[in-house]
Amino acid sequence: MMESAGRVAFIGLGIMGAGMAANLARKGFDTTVFNRGAAKAVPVAACGARVAATAREAVGGADVVFLCLPATGDVAAVLFGAAGIADSLAAGTVVVDTSTIDPVATRDFAGRLAALGVSLLDAPVSGGQKGADDGTLTCMVGGPAEALATARPFLAAMATTIVHVGASGAGQVAKACNQICVSANLVGASEAMALAMKMGVDPSRVREALLGGAARSVVLERHVQKLLDRDFRPGFRTALITKDLTIAAKALNDAQVFAPVAAAVLQVLKGLGASGRQDDDWCAVGDLIQQLSAVAPPEGTPPAA
Ligand code: NAD
Repeated sequence: MMESAGRVAFIGLGIMGAGMAANLARKGFDTTVFNRGAAKAVPVAACGARVAATAREAVGGADVVFLCLPATGDVAAVLFGAAGIADSLAAGTVVVDTSTIDPVATRDFAGRLAALGVSLLDAPVSGGQKGADDGTLTCMVGGPAEALATARPFLAAMATTIVHVGASGAGQVAKACNQICVSANLVGASEAMALAMKMGVDPSRVREALLGGAARSVVLERHVQKLLDRDFRPGFRTALITKDLTIAAKALNDAQVFAPVAAAVLQVLKGLGASGRQDDDWCAVGDLIQQLSAVAPPEGTPPAA
């Protein structure tokens, strides 16, 4: 155990949180975890973490508390709900929220915790399940520099790039910017793949060619490959990217930014969810575009997994 760094609690062991918490435990931090469905804690426990029966039990004695939860309402519930942790946190505790949530709500949460002597960092991440499992995430941090100094050794167990973007909420603003970039990229790349298929050109060869030029991107490398493999297992659930673009659209609207592309991408994602694919990986947006374009999948491609 790394006694000098202190004790850490981790709440939310989903697709991202499981890998992040496992890295803390694997790298020797004194780690206690909690998830609403206990089964998700089993692989993390195998890496050396203690499993708590409740969120409050998990945070007892912790110096740093990580959250990795789906949406703003979940973070509010875990912090301030009926079984919330806020009243169980000792003064001086640093809460690191790695969830992607609303920047305005984040500032409100930070103020409420500050009144208890607790610091909140908004620290959303990018890099997907692979980045979480490999400990190579990028982390965009908002909040006090002293709190980041306390949290940094723990964050470094899960992220290779840690950028202090600014004051509370700045990390969530950076994440909204990230999601605008990657979702527009995926929808554009999906339209490009549909064009290749409709024109009778092998989309894999087109992807290979594009990867060598200015269109190269992580989306083209990873997510378009997943689309071409027709592997729609999540990854990153459609419901979550739709939540992220909804946050971004609200921020764009509040700040009066001219943003027709983000608005269109959000409509496409909502259409994907409405077609019953909320829990599919977001690369399924390419499949929807193929269906709406009357593109038949190439012969021999496996059915959706
Ligand atoms: P997920 O749905 O797989 O995991 C969320 C976990 O939180 C689940 O295990 C759920 O049981 C647990 N949970 C929910 N409410 C809880 C509560 N009250 N108490 C305890 N546990 C609770 O989601 P994910 O894909 O791991 O994403 C988590 C966050 O990270 C989201 O905000 C998402 O937008 C963001 N994110 C996801 C990815 C990705 O590629 N999946 C990448 C970057 C950021």
